[in-house]
Amino acid sequence: MEPAVVASLRELFGERLKENVPLAGYTSARTGGSADALLAVRSADELAQAVQALWARNIPFTLLGGGSNVLVSDRGVRGVVLLNRARTIRFDTKSEHPTVHAESGTTLNDIAQRAARLGLSGFEWAASVPGSLGGAVYGNAGAFGGDLAGNVISVEVLQRQHGRQSWPVEKMEYGYRTSSLKRERAPIVILAATLKLSRGDPEAIRARMAENNERRRSTQPPGASMGSMFKNPPGDKAGRLIEAAGLKGTRIGGAEISSLHANFFLNTDQTRAADMKALLDLAQKTVFEKFGVMLEPEIELVGEW
Ligand SMILES: Cc1cc2nc3c(=O)[nH]c(=O)nc-3n(C[C@H](O)[C@H](O)[C@H](O)COP(=O)(O)OP(=O)(O)OC[C@H]3O[C@@H](n4cnc5c(N)ncnc54)[C@H](O)[C@@H]3O)c2cc1C
Repeated sequence: MEPAVVASLRELFGERLKENVPLAGYTSARTGGSADALLAVRSADELAQAVQALWARNIPFTLLGGGSNVLVSDRGVRGVVLLNRARTIRFDTKSEHPTVHAESGTTLNDIAQRAARLGLSGFEWAASVPGSLGGAVYGNAGAFGGDLAGNVISVEVLQRQHGRQSWPVEKMEYGYRTSSLKRERAPIVILAATLKLSRGDPEAIRARMAENNERRRSTQPPGASMGSMFKNPPGDKAGRLIEAAGLKGTRIGGAEISSLHANFFLNTDQTRAADMKALLDLAQKTVFEKFGVMLEPEIELVGEW
């Protein structure tokens, strides 16, 4: 980064701003290069202020929640990485229709566990999905028959043009693992969201979460990964196609297509992001050649590729 930009960032954020920070430790794939600068934000207001200041100075930034759906380039990320740790949660248990309002850095697991303790149902599916509410609202994360589209009532966003706004769920234009924000890559940041829940029996809620955890443990590999690399194509499963293409266990460098679930690619040891990307390209090309299906990545490439 230009010294003048660094000076301007220091003036804005002081010692909170860290320079040349390796990002692997902030991602579930545990690979990738460094951010020119990294700033952790601890509330939705802090996130909004930081984003507005960066927009005003035209300094590029990348927002990271749990880093569980991204592959960071070995060359790293230019500009500022904002690490979202805004985690205030507020439940409304009194009204006829219970809700939770959570800041976007809250983990899905935290929301699900706290809802369970209050006897609130409807978010059990999310307990074992890694990452932040912001990343999940952005990508319409889902599992075990649930997804964010089924829970979101409204999303508090910060838009470069129009400032802070509350969007009803319809404006997210949700589809399978996608939203208007993900499709358009618009300059919009998710600050918080309100989710609908329902009253339930705490024991039954905990039992459902345990059952989901068990299903995940028996069908998905442990270790550093990004979860599913590709979306499932209509009427089929990406994992089935990659397996049928004979690619289970295939390695490039330390990157390996899991022998347990072929849509999971593992960082077995010191894997370069470039190896992970080469494996992604190989799977996409091979499946297309064998079956005529062009798999669409579910993960996002971040940084300088
Ligand atoms: C082991 C494993 C299992 C997984 N299982 C599932 C699963 O069952 N179902 C599923 O759907 N996913 C699954 N995933 C993927 C991942 O957990 C989800 O996609 C999750 O919602 C990503 O959230 P995150 O905070 O980690 O996002 P990040 O990886 O940090 O970011 C992803 C994208 O969202 C953007 N973003 C993040 N926060 C915000 C915000 N506040 N405002 C605007 N944009 C934002 C980022 O800029 C980036 O473009 C799995 C991942 C792993 C590693």
